[in-house]
Amino acid sequence: MGLKDLMSKPGEMLGDMAQVANLDSVIQWGKSYSLWPYPFATACCGIEYMSTSCSDYDIARFGAERPSFSPRQADMILVLGTITYKMAPVLREIYDQLAEPKYVISVGACASSGGMFHTYGVLQGIDRILPVDVYVPGCPPRPEALLDAVIKLQEKVKSQGLENRRQEVMRKIQEINERNRPLVVR
Ligand code: SF4
Repeated sequence: MGLKDLMSKPGEMLGDMAQVANLDSVIQWGKSYSLWPYPFATACCGIEYMSTSCSDYDIARFGAERPSFSPRQADMILVLGTITYKMAPVLREIYDQLAEPKYVISVGACASSGGMFHTYGVLQGIDRILPVDVYVPGCPPRPEALLDAVIKLQEKVKSQGLENRRQEVMRKIQEINERNRPLVVR
């Protein structure tokens, strides 16, 4: 079998020890196991994240154990808790500063929908300002649910090329900007 034939069959095993892969899938695979989280914790869901990072649940098994509090050294923001309208521009600014390609996990009812805080001061879901990739249900979600979200995100990272990622984010940001456009009454 020639090299050209081999490259057209990614995933093919060569004996017991080697497998054919294209460069993109190897990079995506590596990326999926080196997600660096930025925990944006504003309320009780943050405690669940702390538990997920500790030895019982051990998020390090998925390569995401290295939290960063500098957005330029992180590529996955975990929004953990209630987001008020006052905080929303700060959250968006931090998202804009994350390293590309970047991902968003919305953890818990408050981040995903405002939760029980159906009030004038609370953002009713961070997808009004950020392109969310995975939602984690619950109040609070169990650490297992957060790990499940990381696994789901890993599957997405593995299967999505850079160009598709760019297009998805652009489409979602365009929708968000359109939804947030000020209403002008003439
Ligand atoms: S979803 Fe529940 S546990 Fe999480 S921040 Fe809101 S009130 Fe707290």
